Amino acid sequence: MAGQPLTLHRRRTPAVPIAPMGTLLLRSLVLVSLYYAVALWGFLFTPDPNGVALVWPATGVGLALVLLHGPALLPAAALAAGLVSWQFHLEMMPLAQALGTTAATLAGVALGARLLRGLGFSPRLERVRDTALLLGVGALAASALAAAAGAWGLALGGRELDFTGTWWRCWMADLTGLMLVTPALLTWLDPHAPPLRAGVTGGWGMPLLLVTVTILVTGMTYSPLLPPALAMPLSYAVFPAILFSALRCPLRITTGLILVSGAIALSGTGLGFGPFADMGQTTGLLSLNAQLALLALTGLLLAALRAEREAERERARRHLDELARAGRLSTLGALSSGLAHELNQPLCAVSSYAQACRRLLARGRLQELAETLERLEAGTRRAAETVRQIRSFASGQAPPRHTLDPATLVHEVEALLRPELRRRGVHLVLKLPEGIPPLQGTPLQVQQVLLNLLHNAMEAAEGRQPAQVCLELRREGKALVFIVTDTGPGIPPQRMERLFEPFATWKRGGLGLGLSISRDLVEAHGGRLSARNPPRGGAEFRFDLPLEDPHDVPAASPSGGR
Ligand code: ADP
Repeated sequence: MAGQPLTLHRRRTPAVPIAPMGTLLLRSLVLVSLYYAVALWGFLFTPDPNGVALVWPATGVGLALVLLHGPALLPAAALAAGLVSWQFHLEMMPLAQALGTTAATLAGVALGARLLRGLGFSPRLERVRDTALLLGVGALAASALAAAAGAWGLALGGRELDFTGTWWRCWMADLTGLMLVTPALLTWLDPHAPPLRAGVTGGWGMPLLLVTVTILVTGMTYSPLLPPALAMPLSYAVFPAILFSALRCPLRITTGLILVSGAIALSGTGLGFGPFADMGQTTGLLSLNAQLALLALTGLLLAALRAEREAERERARRHLDELARAGRLSTLGALSSGLAHELNQPLCAVSSYAQACRRLLARGRLQELAETLERLEAGTRRAAETVRQIRSFASGQAPPRHTLDPATLVHEVEALLRPELRRRGVHLVLKLPEGIPPLQGTPLQVQQVLLNLLHNAMEAAEGRQPAQVCLELRREGKALVFIVTDTGPGIPPQRMERLFEPFATWKRGGLGLGLSISRDLVEAHGGRLSARNPPRGGAEFRFDLPLEDPHDVPAASPSGGR
């Protein structure tokens, strides 16, 4: 309707698009043929002297096709119901009642399809709610109405019969027919269903085996070969096959098995064989219908539960993919920030050396100029190496390991920090024991950790009395411990917990990455980085690295300072 708000239709099943005339005619033909065939089959097994069929799947056929292809098929359903009434009902009831029965059956199909569409039913039957809806609406609307029509027609046909009992038997026959036929038609004839694939078991061997087992077991049960005492327990043997199929095979295989086993059971019973044939009219019919309805319900519900779980797993997998993508993006962000952080140090040093060069040039001190230029060059090499290592880290490559001389590493770091220390007026004390055994590691990374810790310590000590930072190397067991202390204010206890978290910063313009990167680098070398406020004041950061060759290291002694 023009101007109608769209939200009114949100929960409904989307309308079926109108098919071209040729397709519509073909679908109508399929409906009429199927409807007529199943009605014929139902009438073949009519043990009730009043003409109530053992099973009445015609309503289920009408409902399935109207659900799949829309109300455009209702005229075909009317034609099929009329044809069946003319062929079969006229023998049992006058024309007016036969027409009334046809109209009521059609109303049941139309109402059932309309209600199901309105309630958002999906013909794929991949949710428990779809099975429940099909059963509920089918039982309460379509089957109840069609059964009432049938019982009413028979009662008015001049027969001496109990209306309630007849309606009850009609309803059961209708509902069982609907439960056997409708799911199979919905899943097999859905034009939008994905192509049939073998189930989780891989190939087609398992579905074929299940079909064979179902036909054999049900065929045996409802044949004259077995005495009823044996046939009764065997009638339950089809359950495992259906349950296995529901858990392992595509839904279409399960609905097909339900239909095949139901058809064999009903045909056998109609012919007077099987465990329910000798039970007496009402009891036998009730037992057979109840067993078939339970079989169909169990298979459909289990298959729907499995489909729901698979859909849930798929949703979780997609969610994980999204998280991983978000994680990659945030790693990229952290990486760029890390790059900026790690490059800051060498670039600052390069800039200080460049200023020094200009001063030395102006004063004509060429020898010192050459030395400073060498340091400047080393700074640019360092920046380039940092970029290279971050790139190889991003691509997942481990940086090469070397044998490191800790004293050389420390002196290089001191040279890098010298201009900055001078500018801030901070004094650096180095306590290096003699004869320190070599370490295994990536020189640039160990230096990066030292630079980060010393830089933080320098910032903390700046402007304090005394403004001092100390780096001490100490051998403890099989590890070499690096201890950085300062005369700063120390770390406020409330910050301790988050100190090593990425982006945890309490500095104006800080990135909060130095400590987190340092901890990762130390751990990548098999060590541990920790922080504390020692009793004498200031902050203390220490990390240990395993020694390559654990010889005795003499006690620490001051070896230099600035
Ligand atoms: P940033 O220096 O960019 O803030 P870091 O990860 O290097 O990032 O340091 C995180 C925080 O740890 C700093 O903001 C500072 O509050 C604290 N911190 C680090 N070193 C010291 C220190 N030597 N003394 C006091 N606080 C420190």
